[in-house]
Amino acid sequence: MSKTARGTTALDRLRDRLDQDGHVCSACGYVHPDPSWEAVTTGDRIQYRRRCDSCGALARRTYRL
Ligand SMILES: [Zn+2]
Repeated sequence: MSKTARGTTALDRLRDRLDQDGHVCSACGYVHPDPSWEAVTTGDRIQYRRRCDSCGALARRTYRL
């Protein structure tokens, strides 16, 4: 059985995951006050990209929809 909580969508849940660990750059440790992830959907996957404001490292998160 699926657990549908309060009408949240799959994208909302992905957003929550990004909010949990998406603020910190894995390369330099810079903490973004307001990380701006860019969402790119490709077929059945969605990829979030964010460039670090401090060191310019590109962070990517790919999820299946
Ligand atoms: Zn960085």
